Amino acid sequence: MTQAPRHHGQLLDLVHRPARDLRISVTDRCNLRCSYCMPFDHYVWIDKKEILTFEEIARLARLFIDLGVGAIRLTGGEPLVRANLDVLVAQVAGLPGLNDLSLTTNGVFLAETVDALAAAGLKRINVSLDTLDPNRFRQITKRGDLEKVLSGLFAAKRAGLHPIKINAVIERGVNDGDILDLVEFSRAHGFAMRFIEFMDVGNSNNWKSERMVSKADILAVIHARFPLREVGRAQGTAPSVDYEFADGQGDIGVIASVTEPFCSNCTRARLTADGKLVTCLFSETGHDLKSWLRRGAADEDLRQFIRGVWSNRNDRYSEERLEALYSIEGYQSRDRKKIEMISLGG
Ligand code: SAM
Ligand code: SF4
Ligand code: SF4
Repeated sequence: MTQAPRHHGQLLDLVHRPARDLRISVTDRCNLRCSYCMPFDHYVWIDKKEILTFEEIARLARLFIDLGVGAIRLTGGEPLVRANLDVLVAQVAGLPGLNDLSLTTNGVFLAETVDALAAAGLKRINVSLDTLDPNRFRQITKRGDLEKVLSGLFAAKRAGLHPIKINAVIERGVNDGDILDLVEFSRAHGFAMRFIEFMDVGNSNNWKSERMVSKADILAVIHARFPLREVGRAQGTAPSVDYEFADGQGDIGVIASVTEPFCSNCTRARLTADGKLVTCLFSETGHDLKSWLRRGAADEDLRQFIRGVWSNRNDRYSEERLEALYSIEGYQSRDRKKIEMISLGG
């Protein structure tokens, strides 16, 4: 096969945002049932034959890189329920032009997979962990075993992954009392905490603004115990606003999608497990890239499809939500039928 030329001009959307990051959902399936994400016992999963193969994912990843993507995150659903994920990591990590490959996982299967993932080229990882209390962990995740996540985190450290970030979604009345425990734990072990405002992603998590703990409230709790200095957003565009501890022992970040939306700098494309290109976390539909792929489209046809979708993008859902939250009518999360987080790749 002839190698496609590597530079295809900068791809910009309608408000001049480039496609710089790609989040790839490798499966919609998950072994947990987090209350803020997929709270129901049963879901209708994507038919296995509709799920992209590793070769298909790696090909699409290469085409996105041609169009300017430099960072790829593998996610889900739970990416580690997909067998042999290290094989995909090796295929993607070796793509010329990729600067950053990461994985977001709930950590349950991390201890037994992390050595193979690191050997395949994974350098860093985000592990979701909302509490260090085993009972509350079980309450939030329904099926999870905290010990397995902790041993996964320490195995990732032994395997040399860096940074290891811990993502915690903070929900009022559920784990807002766990913020300092998580900070102390991450400082003690060299992990980087990332707190996330509870978002109204999908339709099933019964989101209400009262259940969301704002960035300002999260920071106030931490700052009172561990004084912080603002560092800002990495590259000026990252979703997380970062802070370092005044005593120099590590840093934390807060992703304030609700109270401080960052749509104007959003450079993130998403690929669902069944090959749909999604331009916003709150989209109602995706664009069916897989059909083209499986009909035998050439690389340039697929790039043209991606260009067509991205160049028509004007999403700014979180900014619209904030405007609505402050409006007289208020904001009703269920007004539109969004794609569920498990299909999207958070
Ligand atoms: N299963 C993996 C995990 O939990 O890390 C990867 C997929 S999960 C959908 C990706 C991230 O989305 C997790 O860090 C999770 O905490 C976050 N997330 C899920 N639902 C959310 C919500 N309603 N608000 C904010 N973040 C959410
Ligand atoms: Fe599964 Fe991750 Fe969603 Fe929890 S946040 S239900 S682990 S996909
Ligand atoms: Fe990007 Fe959509 Fe989130 Fe705005 S709401 S930051 S456009 S994913």
